[in-house]
Amino acid sequence: MEQATSHKKVDYLIIGQGLVGTWLSYYALQAGKTCMVVNDSHTPSASQVASGVINPVTGRRIVQTWMIDTFLPFALKAYSDLGTQLNAPIVKEAPVVLIHPSLQMQESFEYRYEHENVYLQKNNASDFEAFMHAPFGTGQINQTVWIDLNLMIAGWRQQLINNAQYKDTKFDLADLQITNEGVTWNGIQAKRIVFCDGLGSMQNPYFKMLPFAPNKGEALIVEIKDLPNQAIYKNNITIVPWKDQLFWVGSNYEWDFKDTSPSEDFRKKMEDALTQLLKIPFTVVDHIAGIRPANQERRPFVGLHPSYPAIGICNGMGTKGCSLAPYFAHQFIEHCEQGLPIHPEAGLERFEEILNK
Ligand SMILES: Cc1cc2nc3c(=O)[nH]c(=O)nc-3n(C[C@H](O)[C@H](O)[C@H](O)COP(=O)(O)OP(=O)(O)OC[C@H]3O[C@@H](n4cnc5c(N)ncnc54)[C@H](O)[C@@H]3O)c2cc1C
Repeated sequence: MEQATSHKKVDYLIIGQGLVGTWLSYYALQAGKTCMVVNDSHTPSASQVASGVINPVTGRRIVQTWMIDTFLPFALKAYSDLGTQLNAPIVKEAPVVLIHPSLQMQESFEYRYEHENVYLQKNNASDFEAFMHAPFGTGQINQTVWIDLNLMIAGWRQQLINNAQYKDTKFDLADLQITNEGVTWNGIQAKRIVFCDGLGSMQNPYFKMLPFAPNKGEALIVEIKDLPNQAIYKNNITIVPWKDQLFWVGSNYEWDFKDTSPSEDFRKKMEDALTQLLKIPFTVVDHIAGIRPANQERRPFVGLHPSYPAIGICNGMGTKGCSLAPYFAHQFIEHCEQGLPIHPEAGLERFEEILNK
């Protein structure tokens, strides 16, 4: 048996380095703590295929998303601080240009513009007529941002690697021991282990009873040479600047999916939608798919296991990982280090009974 003295000691053993594991390790280090991040870069992640948009409004009624007044300023500062630290342009301010897909959506926009409007602005449809069909007019959502998640995650990973804080391997729960001091795993002794492994937590005996409801989403990566890349465009589909003249085009929300691969059906639907919307040529260069770690309540799972306080989870960010992850990763670390509460709609207290079964 390995001696405890030969173990490398850290405060946090973090499983997964998608969006959430990135922010959790960032805030652990900011708090002056040590960490080891274990991530299997061959396991597919939602963060790899996400468009990275933070949109403060949602749905057919164009209402504000949950707690966006709190999350948006927090996220903006967090991403721009991390971008500065990585010396990488990970945050882009990009308004959403709404190309109303129907009369109903045009009316919905007009109504919201007149009632409790914070983020909407009128714009001039003629600005877009050279490259888009807009028979029902246009509008604009302000204070939307686009995060280059692949650049951010790769940059942060490199920083962790440089500081010997990253292991690229598949974590297996069979190798974990719970001790009086916390946990040990493959020669590492940690005060806490935190699962930021997205869908992986659905197989984890400590957390699999949480009401996960994974949701498949796909996107095309499309070259559209003549489309200005200073804005996100949205009608029934969303077109997000990706890199140079490449755009991310998506998405769909499939709760009942048979596999995780890109589907012909989706590709055809997006190509038809692009043909209808654009007046300019486009070429599909890639087709990607991922599974959102969503849940039935549309609220994240954040906190320590009620019976095993050395084991935590930060997960269930669903469709809103970009705005939720920095805020709740920060709250998780404050909770562990200063005993501050986790927001009751996100904390694990609400699942105490099922987690203790
Ligand atoms: C098509 C699509 C579009 C999206 N667009 C947006 C958007 O515009 N804005 C937005 O806010 N959100 C968006 N999302 C949602 C967003 O992607 C998620 O909320 C977020 O990425 C979840 O991050 P995560 O870190 O929890 O999970 P993941 O990104 O899935 O990360 C989990 C990590 O854990 C690792 N892992 C898993 N199991 C193991 C193991 N056993 N050992 C080691 N490592 C392991 C994986 O490799 C991965 O790196 C989109 C999602 C999809 C699919």
